[in-house]
Amino acid sequence: MSVPLQPKLTIVMYHYVRPLALTRFPKIKGLDLALFDEQLAYLQKHYSLISMEELIDAIEGAGRLPPRPALLTFDDGYTDHYEHVFPRLAERRLQGSFFPVACSALDRQILDANKIQFTLASDVDPDRLVAFIEDACRDRAAEFGLHDIAHYREKFWVGNFLDPPNVDYVKLMLQHALPMKLRAELVDQLFRRYVASDEVSFADELYASADQLRAMRNGGMHIGSHGDLHLWLGTIPAPEQYADIDRSLRLLDAVGMPPRYRTICYPYGSYDAHTIEAVAARGFKLALTTEVALADRIAAQRFALPRLDTNHLPKDALASPNEWTIAAAG
Ligand SMILES: [Zn+2]
Repeated sequence: MSVPLQPKLTIVMYHYVRPLALTRFPKIKGLDLALFDEQLAYLQKHYSLISMEELIDAIEGAGRLPPRPALLTFDDGYTDHYEHVFPRLAERRLQGSFFPVACSALDRQILDANKIQFTLASDVDPDRLVAFIEDACRDRAAEFGLHDIAHYREKFWVGNFLDPPNVDYVKLMLQHALPMKLRAELVDQLFRRYVASDEVSFADELYASADQLRAMRNGGMHIGSHGDLHLWLGTIPAPEQYADIDRSLRLLDAVGMPPRYRTICYPYGSYDAHTIEAVAARGFKLALTTEVALADRIAAQRFALPRLDTNHLPKDALASPNEWTIAAAG
């Protein structure tokens, strides 16, 4: 049975999916493989898992969505997705939508966001990282025209449902708050000191290659853009947004994605009116954000579709008789 585009669409967002205890970085914030298996079983039982092509066709009036539709999305193109996710989805005859970053998949660059995550997942005390960052802010205040520490503390010492304030502060300072040149330098120093000195072999371990992504595509998976350099698109000038989005298309070409079903997932969920203009102009059919919600006006929201993080979903999915709702998203 099909219904028109009224059903609320649940889009689930995943990043790392791995057997955490068996990895070199058990503290990395990821979904354990056993829990992923449980979630898939739960979703298949209670939802209609749809493909990206079905969703795009429905938005364009060429098809209808089943009741309780759900879409599975995986960000950043990790080898996890090739090694663990792809075989599980294929076995269940499900499709996943994967959003690798062009510079990581093709050029083997490690994203600053990943360097920060692995630094935090090493054994270093987060307070040492805070001290390192703040020392640098004092030493180089004049060079970069920085604010005083109190300003950064007031704005970014916050915390959220995943991270205590000191960890959140380290992330925000290094991802966002400090000038790009300074934070890139600090992130590199920390990564080399606490994680790995050989970036290329670490990148090979972390990110799926173009060949692996092609194999996933040939196996029925959807591959979309996640930018060329994983930038906060909504915070940079329009021409730079266009340039990054255009450069990201080299990955879609490399894995053989047809323009007919071109999609994008905004890095960090960051976008503004120019981003939407750019993706529409470049023929993207839909775009995903990190806003936490179910999509209830799918066609109108096509360039800013909200998602639920897997970490928002019940930890013990099989034991929970309740359907996933916004209330569960906390
Ligand atoms: Zn990302």
